[in-house]
Amino acid sequence: MIDPKIKTIAFDADDTLWVNETIFDATQERFFKLLEQYVPEEVLRKHLFQTEIKNLKYFGYGVKGFILSMIETAVELTEGLVRGGDIQQIIDWGREMIEHPVENIEGVEQALKTLSQHYQLMVITKGDLLDQESKLARSGLADYFDKVEIVSDKTAAQYQEILNRHDIKAEEFLMIGNSLKSDVLPVLEIGGQAVHIPFSSTWEHETVAPAEESHHQIVAFASVTEFVKTIG
Ligand SMILES: [Mg+2]
Repeated sequence: MIDPKIKTIAFDADDTLWVNETIFDATQERFFKLLEQYVPEEVLRKHLFQTEIKNLKYFGYGVKGFILSMIETAVELTEGLVRGGDIQQIIDWGREMIEHPVENIEGVEQALKTLSQHYQLMVITKGDLLDQESKLARSGLADYFDKVEIVSDKTAAQYQEILNRHDIKAEEFLMIGNSLKSDVLPVLEIGGQAVHIPFSSTWEHETVAPAEESHHQIVAFASVTEFVKTIG
């Protein structure tokens, strides 16, 4: 149950409020197909992942960095032979990803409706600023949130900075998200509480060994409302 001290509940966005990773997975599969004439899928997969990680510190999280990493992988693994038309195709996929309809995860809206009556609600998400603002607007969920933070990374220091800026005490703060690495562990580290709601697909970079630390885990967003009813 939620600690009665909690006053603010923050949510991750991608794969917590709405579907995201499946869109990346689907584009990645198209990328493998596009280049299968040049390079085997397992070689592409490994190189693309390494390129994405290498590029995080230059381009950050989100669709733009992903597209650039696919282009870089295509150029490197074909030794410059990839066609201009194929590069154009990759860029077009990026636009499709940005325009992809926002599919809210089941149970999210009901849970936000209930929680917003009792708590200050926040979104704390990584990704491209324009893309995340657009998804929040198109999700129809924006009005439930008092504050929105779109950040370049979610480290303990960054959570602490956000809490300081909004005058929120760590012990009165609860974070809900699908990533142990980004949504749970750094929040526990600064003395906050966290609920982990796993999504069906997790980007390899966001996976960590199961944590020893104590945090809540619930399997579906629909149960957030049930979970909150236990507060009493
Ligand atoms: Mg997420």
